[in-house]
Amino acid sequence: MISFYPGPSRVYDNIPRYVKDAHTSGILSMNHRSTEFMALMKKTVTLLKQKLAIPKEYTILFTSSATECWEVVAQSWITHKSFHLYNGAFGEKWYEYTRKIRPGATALPFGRETALNPGQSVFEGEHNLICITQNETSNGTQVSNEIIKGIRTSNPKHLIAVDATSSLAGIKLDFSAADIWLASVQKCFGLPAGLGIMICSPVAIVRAHEINNRQFYNSAVFMTDMMLKWQTSCTPNVLGIYLLMRVMEDVKPIAAIHKILVNRYHQWLAVLAKQPKLSHLIRNEAVRSFTVLPLTADEKTIQKIKKSAKAAGFLLGDGYGDLKPTTLRIANFPAITDREIKSLTKFLQNLNR
Ligand SMILES: *Cc1c(COP(=O)(O)O)cnc(C)c1O
Repeated sequence: MISFYPGPSRVYDNIPRYVKDAHTSGILSMNHRSTEFMALMKKTVTLLKQKLAIPKEYTILFTSSATECWEVVAQSWITHKSFHLYNGAFGEKWYEYTRKIRPGATALPFGRETALNPGQSVFEGEHNLICITQNETSNGTQVSNEIIKGIRTSNPKHLIAVDATSSLAGIKLDFSAADIWLASVQKCFGLPAGLGIMICSPVAIVRAHEINNRQFYNSAVFMTDMMLKWQTSCTPNVLGIYLLMRVMEDVKPIAAIHKILVNRYHQWLAVLAKQPKLSHLIRNEAVRSFTVLPLTADEKTIQKIKKSAKAAGFLLGDGYGDLKPTTLRIANFPAITDREIKSLTKFLQNLNR
């Protein structure tokens, strides 16, 4: 089965070998307070910063999932209000989880064809948190670096948190435009699930210490203090961190990966243009995701494609939530090979016959 599922997604071919290496070299039983672990952590963080072009002064923290990051953000960075700009299921979920912890969470939904206007996104008060889902995996839309930067300019007194779960390690993100970036590794990283990542600006770290919420094992201040010693507040997913390190050693710098994915994205659009029955769910090209392609057709056609794709050995992404009956999703993640794309393209072209 070739997986085009947008998470959990296809993992890199080297993963089985790296798992075996982890076993052989004792990583699987490694003590997370040992100097060996601290060296592994340091190397992983250094490689992440290098390959993803993350500013040196940013702090990287590990959790077990993006969902956990949402909770850490709510506990550690929100005191009164948070403003949640979202147009789909993941952004809404982030809002819902936050609201349970911080009742001041405010939902600001927008249409999925809409590009946010930074000039009109000006938020009240100060020291509040603006939450943006950079790549909305459920409907295949994205908020560009320029727009996030614009929102930053419009709101100099607030912090900005960005969910980049299905774009981090796939497209080039402008980390200077926000304070907290969160993701998990089972999407563009091409790794098995079970590891979450937070990338925090120096301003975010200062703010976390001002708030100084130390109630939780995964409070950001506590995690940051531990990270100064290249350690974590609990026994982490050591295998996941090791696999991340190995994959970061292998991958090209993010600018090169970005270029490949954008090219592939345009190839997919060309394939779609020749499909009379299928079209891109999002009409506004300016807000289309580079990493998740949502395709729409009538219910019967979607059913048929799903069924025949499965029989032909392709795992396509189901539509998400309300969109399930009339859409399917194709991941455009880095671990997918040119050959696999070619064979799915052929399959789609044959649908016309
Ligand atoms: C997949 C996804 C999540 C959830 O990730 P977990 O690792 O399962 O918690 C959150 N946000 C976005 C945008 C996603 O695509």
